Amino acid sequence: MTADDVTLAQLPLREDLRGRSPYGAPQLDVPVRLNTNENPYPPPDELVADVADAARRVAAQLHRYPDRDAVGLRQDLAAYLSESTDVPLTERNLWAANGSNEILQQLLQAFGGPGRTALGFEPSYSMHPIIAAGTRTEWVPAPRRDDFSLDTDQAADLVARSAADVVFLTSPNNPTGGSVPLDGLESVLRVAPGIVVVDEAYAEFSARPSAVRLLDDYPAKLVVSRTMSKAFAFAGGRLGYLAAAPAVVDALQLVRLPYHLSVLTQAAARAALRHADATLASVATLAAERDRVMESLLGLGFTPVPSDANFVLFGRFSDAAAAWQAYVDNGVLIRDVGIAGHLRVSIGTPEENDAFLTASKEVPR
Ligand code: PMP
Repeated sequence: MTADDVTLAQLPLREDLRGRSPYGAPQLDVPVRLNTNENPYPPPDELVADVADAARRVAAQLHRYPDRDAVGLRQDLAAYLSESTDVPLTERNLWAANGSNEILQQLLQAFGGPGRTALGFEPSYSMHPIIAAGTRTEWVPAPRRDDFSLDTDQAADLVARSAADVVFLTSPNNPTGGSVPLDGLESVLRVAPGIVVVDEAYAEFSARPSAVRLLDDYPAKLVVSRTMSKAFAFAGGRLGYLAAAPAVVDALQLVRLPYHLSVLTQAAARAALRHADATLASVATLAAERDRVMESLLGLGFTPVPSDANFVLFGRFSDAAAAWQAYVDNGVLIRDVGIAGHLRVSIGTPEENDAFLTASKEVPR
């Protein structure tokens, strides 16, 4: 017997993980990749040069551990978020990790866990229940309306009766694209018995004000999670962050791994933040392209779901899996998110969107 012969079933895996599937957006080598909601525009040359310089500088200190608390990076994130939301924030309100997935995991490690529950309104980001499972937090699925919007009165009723330790509100919601107005978020915050995580991974694409505005009103409940993976064109750099009361940051220090953000990550993220204006200039282009793609899909007889983000969920297909494969055969990778009759397309460059729209005329409905 070799190591290759051992199967997963033979391992003493936790019972509650048996039979589960890992997160699995396919990474296929096709010409047009519109499946993981990345920014399709590569970073500008000046940013690339700045990241390379920063990496060279810190490379001389690679024998030392990084700043465990990433204070400089958190100051830069606070400056960006304060400016974009008009809410004064300091590094004490900010925490950063390797992607917002790690932020969410740390939140559930601290506020969820065995004997505790996390509630989310489905369909939503598929990692929320997966991270709940990994941290042994019981997942409580709650419904959206048939058109995928959130009925915030019904949501508030449910949350009030739920005793959920953590509530997830994703705004704009992935994979459906709609966002929740501040008064709707407040209806839930007012009655929530525990922590409310507003996952704002796509906030820069939305014209709605950020939930950060509500921090002073709900300091013991509200956590706003953000990422540099989408609008910031930094998915490969892996940098997520949150804004919350400083006490929330203190709580996460209890569960984070020491030195979780490498010197390279911290330096690269700070360099990328110095070029925020250049990177975020793509947001307006992407929002305009999103509206064009939605109009074109309507013109082709599809039913796109109104989106505030850099992707569009659309239907209807009699067999979404077969349609997904037909797109791949046409050189376009989009996403089957498991919603009957629907697929999700990320907004790409105008050329990529045209390729997607051309393929949309070919695929079986
Ligand atoms: N939240 C939402 C709603 C997302 O869609 C994603 C990425 N698909 C994330 C969080 C995590 O992104 P990252 O870990 O790259 O920050």
